[in-house]
Amino acid sequence: MSVSEICQVCEVAQADRTCGQCGRLACERHLDEETGMCVECVSAGGGSGVPGDPTNPGGPADDDVLR
Ligand SMILES: [Zn+2]
Ligand SMILES: [Zn+2]
Repeated sequence: MSVSEICQVCEVAQADRTCGQCGRLACERHLDEETGMCVECVSAGGGSGVPGDPTNPGGPADDDVLR
């Protein structure tokens, strides 16, 4: 079987990561690396960090420090 995990967003690309919010599989194009969430969750307001938003210059980087 070569059926591997498919992105739950576009359903065409191979997913190699999982959304930290909803847990759905997503390809690299549909999972935001900064928030660790899929584009669905990001667009749904899962994170308050909007690139270029002057009201939130730092972004929500509280518990996203994994080094
Ligand atoms: Zn995708
Ligand atoms: Zn998600």
